[in-house]
Amino acid sequence: MKQINQYRGSTLHTKGWIQEAALRMLNNNLNPEVAENPDELIVYGGIGKAARNWESYEAIVRELKQLENDETLLIQSGKPVAVFRTHSDAPRVLIANSNLVPAWANWEHFQELEKRGLMMYGQMTAGSWIYIGSQGIVQGTYETFAELARQHFNRTLKGKITLTAGLGGMGGAQPLAVTMNEGVCIAIDVDPIRIKRRIKTRYLDISTDNVNEAIRLAKDAATKGQPLSIGLLGNAAEILPKMLEMGFIPDVLTDQTSAHDPLNGYIPANYTLDEAAELRSKNKKKYIQLSKKSIATHVKAMLEMQKQGAITFDYGNNIRQIAKDEGVENAFDFPGFVPAYIRPQFCEGKGPFRWVALSGDPEDIYKTDDVILNEFSYNESLCNWIRMAREKIAFQGLPSRICWLGYGERTRFGKIINEMVAKGKLKAPIVIGRDHLDSGSVASPNRETEGMKDGSDAVADWPILNALINAVGGASWVSVHHGGGVGMGYSIHAGMVIVADGTKEAEKRLERVLTTDPGMGVVRHADAGYELAIKTAKEKGVHIPMLTT
Ligand code: NAD
Repeated sequence: MKQINQYRGSTLHTKGWIQEAALRMLNNNLNPEVAENPDELIVYGGIGKAARNWESYEAIVRELKQLENDETLLIQSGKPVAVFRTHSDAPRVLIANSNLVPAWANWEHFQELEKRGLMMYGQMTAGSWIYIGSQGIVQGTYETFAELARQHFNRTLKGKITLTAGLGGMGGAQPLAVTMNEGVCIAIDVDPIRIKRRIKTRYLDISTDNVNEAIRLAKDAATKGQPLSIGLLGNAAEILPKMLEMGFIPDVLTDQTSAHDPLNGYIPANYTLDEAAELRSKNKKKYIQLSKKSIATHVKAMLEMQKQGAITFDYGNNIRQIAKDEGVENAFDFPGFVPAYIRPQFCEGKGPFRWVALSGDPEDIYKTDDVILNEFSYNESLCNWIRMAREKIAFQGLPSRICWLGYGERTRFGKIINEMVAKGKLKAPIVIGRDHLDSGSVASPNRETEGMKDGSDAVADWPILNALINAVGGASWVSVHHGGGVGMGYSIHAGMVIVADGTKEAEKRLERVLTTDPGMGVVRHADAGYELAIKTAKEKGVHIPMLTT
């Protein structure tokens, strides 16, 4: 295994805190506690990577260490390609990953380029160096299940059984999010190592390889109203049809296998992991055929369970599209999680805001937790979240925190953090960032922009504008990616990270970027005609030239 320096503390290894932050975050993405397969530079989400290859990784590290405070490093699909003199308020790094001209934007063409060393799949936060492990998604997952519980079950999942699959980097958040909502979760995964990892990091309670036992344990806990999460070893495309035969229908049903990438992210039914790996290397075409066939079986079983009463939704892995392409005509009968549960939050510019303590000291995060509890005490669910996160979420790699904050709140909090750094209340600067899955940074018709009110689902100008305005405002690094979440051809999205280093200049940059970034979410949804976004824009003074209603 390659040794990667996990720098901590307040000593710089670069010429400035922004470069240092980029270096520490790149390395954090590849920390074995954080990344799913660091030996292959794979961070999460199928083959989402932090750098194109080890040679590129070394070159990025070298360049970041030499980079001046008025220079900008350019990254093209995980490879450093240029350094230009810009200015001190400009981003130190600009990143473009996996972007293809639309008519070529498919897995086949990407795989060909990847084989020739010309491209890398950046997923969302993998190639943009702001992945923080499963905790990065856990509040979003928690909020999704909480909203589902509000809509369908008296505000709690108590006594209800959720069935899902996929215990990878993101999917691994599901069992904890369900138990935080007081429910019971059966989470299927074909890989015993993933199950063990989630147990070790307290995302999962127990495991079994026996379907009967999983159902018995789940029913027992549900009857007693006790939260419990059970990892079930096996293949979802085999287990769901078996559960149907047994007459077991869960209350809630979803999936987070990496179905967006049938070659690298989904194991075909009746294949062991070793057999699958062998087939993948020997006969890609056959692998993809079998994988897609299994995805179709999986989705058919989900549709049948839905018919028999399970509240069913797609959890952002494009599984419906693949099944539809395989002939499952009604694959889209169950909704995606964004239109079903999340969109109102996007209308207020709310999304998965996150911050990381570069010192490596958990105390720095606890101090910022206290700020949320004091400064945002009017927001009860936010404060509950912070208290729960503190108690239940184990740090992976650099200590970090996530919470959904909206327009206005992000700027306020960012400036407070910067002041804490300036006053020496924290041991080192803080990195502030977010998932690309946010209110104004994604065009993804099967996910974030599914079923937009005005039919603008596939309009991809928005994430590009998001990246441009954040770069102009002085974000520390900005990225534009293609294919994250749902796979090649199905999404364009932008990331941004900004460092609070305690300087006056950082304060101004934070004020600009943490306003424009969620502001784009408000604008995008107001433009599509969402009342809540229009109201938010009016109340908060977001200037939208042609807003008439
Ligand atoms: P990952 O690649 O780290 O994990 C996928 C998991 O699925 C692995 O543990 C694998 O063993 C398991 N798996 C594959 N085929 C299986 C099968 N047939 N049966 C059972 N288990 C199987 O991916 P991840 O980071 O957890 O992301 C999962 C999916 O969710 C991706 O498609 C990703 O793009 C999407 N995603 C969703 C959100 C969201 O908020 N909903 C956010 C990010 C990513």
